[in-house]
Amino acid sequence: MNLDWQVCSRARLSRDSRFDGKFFIGVIGSRVYCRPICPAPTAKEKNVRYFPSAAAAAEAGFRPCLRCRPESSPGTPAWLGTSNTVSRALRLIGESGLEDGGVEVLAERLGVGSRHLRRLFLRHLGATPIAVAQTRRLHFAKKLIDETRLPMTQIAIAAGFGCVRRFNAGIRKTYDRTPTQIRRLARKTAVQPGNQYLFRLHFRPPYHWQGMLDFLAARATPGVEVVECGTYRRTISWQGRPGYFEVSLDDSGDALLVRIEFGDPHSLFFIVEHVRAMFDVNADSAAIAQSLKSDPVLAGRVEADPGLRVPGCWNGFELATRAILGQQITVKGATAMAGRMVSAFGMPFSGPSRLTHLFPSPEALADANLGSIGLTGARAETIRALARAVCAGKINFEGVVDSDEFLHRLCEIRGIGKWTAQYVAMRALGEPDAFPSSDLGLLRALSVESSRDLERRAEAWRPWRTYAAMYLWRMLSPSGSRANQSGSRKAHESSVGSAEPYPRVPVAV
Ligand SMILES: [Zn+2]
Repeated sequence: MNLDWQVCSRARLSRDSRFDGKFFIGVIGSRVYCRPICPAPTAKEKNVRYFPSAAAAAEAGFRPCLRCRPESSPGTPAWLGTSNTVSRALRLIGESGLEDGGVEVLAERLGVGSRHLRRLFLRHLGATPIAVAQTRRLHFAKKLIDETRLPMTQIAIAAGFGCVRRFNAGIRKTYDRTPTQIRRLARKTAVQPGNQYLFRLHFRPPYHWQGMLDFLAARATPGVEVVECGTYRRTISWQGRPGYFEVSLDDSGDALLVRIEFGDPHSLFFIVEHVRAMFDVNADSAAIAQSLKSDPVLAGRVEADPGLRVPGCWNGFELATRAILGQQITVKGATAMAGRMVSAFGMPFSGPSRLTHLFPSPEALADANLGSIGLTGARAETIRALARAVCAGKINFEGVVDSDEFLHRLCEIRGIGKWTAQYVAMRALGEPDAFPSSDLGLLRALSVESSRDLERRAEAWRPWRTYAAMYLWRMLSPSGSRANQSGSRKAHESSVGSAEPYPRVPVAV
């Protein structure tokens, strides 16, 4: 493990939140490990050890600090730049833990041997895959203890411990306290309604929350998504159960506040991890900005709008359907069309403030008469073909390991071209380096003639071309230019349904 101790030491003493999540500090005397931003008095250099991940600190016998709560620190360790395989493995562990089949199955899905995977984990994270999964589970349990009123028996199951005894033992060993003692310590006192859960997802500042809201507001599907008063809200369906969540910026300015209403606490881990991905909570804005600043146009944009993130999606099928609807028409036109689709084919839902439907399932669209809502024959057939491929299991947006292979299969559907595939890669697969180079808006933003010229210029932005695209799109959007004039970071109601010059594609086939 070669964390540069001098850099860690400076970062630790500065308590700069941009280092949060990049490494952890073990204090030798107390056997406690902390985040770089811990408010506790700083220990002497000779009494600390540095770790690249929380799991590594735990493996070395350190307990998480009860003040800075390392379990809520942002993201995965980026200090050394994790390998592709490790990042993918972390994503899969995030989605399902190691519950379905353990390390062997995980390694098989990634196309590597389990011993090799273990070695990679040790090199990049200083901990084995099992230790990482175990740490995540414990951290999630701690989050539920601190931030919800769920009974301990339910938390044990929701966090994947199987039984209360294992849960109690795990928490006790890790935190040196019983779950009940920990709950008593938590400052949280507000009583939540039975099936409502409140979480804080911490991020490394800066985070351009208004930029996120503007983008989502312009595309909010009527009935399914609402953006108002600085809050994003949407209906969700998971394993046949309906619910909704809402996300806003926490007053602290370094976390998103997530309120989930859902009947089944077992699904909370899955929902929280999806929200984390959808709002790009783990991005390392400082590192991204550093790379993009080499381009003179982008340098100005990064300066003006620090911390712009990539809006992901709740559901890959929904996002891909929206992308197809958006081919060759304005964002405003596509949003109106999506609204008609939802009221015709979506399941009714009674939620707060204009949440009236769930987005139509693949089953509902597989044979739907989409001409009835004004869709052209070719586009209707593309959506039906996508829906049928998902129903048949030929296309599965969850747990995608090989993006190239996945996109190749997606493009076999008639009517899905390169632009749509790259857009799906950006927003549904969370690929940081996807790039829809035929996009008219991107060409216009840089006054470039052809997509080949654009691709050449974009070489310098790798591996962050997705973020570059976000900056260029924002430059063209009315909300982007308005925000630049006022320079205000304050959240306000966004321009719902404002027409934007993108993504209008020449021909997406
Ligand atoms: Zn601490």
